[in-house]
Amino acid sequence: MKDNQDYALATQAIRTGHHRSHEGEHSIPIFTTSSYVFKSAEDAALRFTGKSPGNIYSRFTNPTVSAFQERLAAMEQGDRCLAFASGMAAIMAVGMGLLKAGDHVVCSRGVFGNTVLMFQNYFGKFGVSCDFVDLSDLAAWEAAINSNTRFLFLETPSNPLTEIADIRALADLAHAHGCLLVVDNCFCTPALQKPLALGADIVVHSATKYIDGQGRCVGGAVVASEEIIEKHIYPYLRTGGATMSPFNAWVFLSGLETLNLRMQAHCSNALALAEWLQQQAAVTKVHYPGLASHAQHELAKSQQSGFGGIISFELRGGKDAAWRLIDATQMLSITANLGDVKTTITHPATTTHGRLSPEARAAAGISDGLIRISVGLEAIEDIIGDLARGL
Ligand SMILES: *Cc1c(COP(=O)(O)O)cnc(C)c1O
Repeated sequence: MKDNQDYALATQAIRTGHHRSHEGEHSIPIFTTSSYVFKSAEDAALRFTGKSPGNIYSRFTNPTVSAFQERLAAMEQGDRCLAFASGMAAIMAVGMGLLKAGDHVVCSRGVFGNTVLMFQNYFGKFGVSCDFVDLSDLAAWEAAINSNTRFLFLETPSNPLTEIADIRALADLAHAHGCLLVVDNCFCTPALQKPLALGADIVVHSATKYIDGQGRCVGGAVVASEEIIEKHIYPYLRTGGATMSPFNAWVFLSGLETLNLRMQAHCSNALALAEWLQQQAAVTKVHYPGLASHAQHELAKSQQSGFGGIISFELRGGKDAAWRLIDATQMLSITANLGDVKTTITHPATTTHGRLSPEARAAAGISDGLIRISVGLEAIEDIIGDLARGL
């Protein structure tokens, strides 16, 4: 058999990670066992010291979870992956594994709200400082780096304005200052973007979004080099215990099998919707990296193989017009979740960004007329038809 790294992503997504048992099963089994039996007292001792491979306890290794880890590592072109109970647990593990009191983090302003709170409120409580910068302002990233900066953290494209970070430039910048680059690859997934191949050191995921793809389970993952995982992340997983359940790993494994196809379909529906929105008189601006009008369209084209399924747009008439449009829909789901086969619609100013002050919201570019759509896989004419009602 070829080495997994030699297969194309669509093949890895289906074939990598399943080591068929003596039963010859074709589908990956769910190993619902908390512990494992050793052959002898000596075997137990060897496994506990790590001198012999093999499972000990499902807090840190389980065959179904391992299959998911192996598959996602191959797809991200990383040495190793560890699965976690949620995306936030994965981000927490990166911080717990790598940071100590006195360290510093530089983070994009445009990251998931709980990621901001994690660095500011929780790591901050233990003497780690964090500065927030504009995602696409390379000079601001450089100016924020100190001698005690441990890593840079970002999401690209950003949510909800779909700004793009230059991953290669930021990786070079991080390495020139002796720090690491961490990329939350939730929006693109490895089907569209491989941050490690562009120079990033660590990829984190919320598997809850596109990896599941059908809104069923909560999970997360960290992908990095053997050295980073073995030295910093695995010891924390083993001790911290925010483990992914075997059942969830099994759901995510089947999610990965269709990820490539789904992402292509999300991209083509999103592009068609963005182009239609651009022609509507009530819409003043459409944010989608696939549009030639997007300020970083060329950069997106150079580091992504598709432009993703998230769109935002601005309506004339502020909050009233935005709420009217949302309430006129009959099919779209009014929910802040994303990455689902079902199209979802949100008003960021009063939901995901509602706790920010009006000034902070304005600084983040979240206007009252802004609407975000996670474009699903329904027929594009039905998605457009549902939005046309309120326009
Ligand atoms: C949802 C999300 C997270 C958090 O993941 P959970 O699985 O909900 O804990 C982190 N980053 C991004 C970009 C997300 O969209």
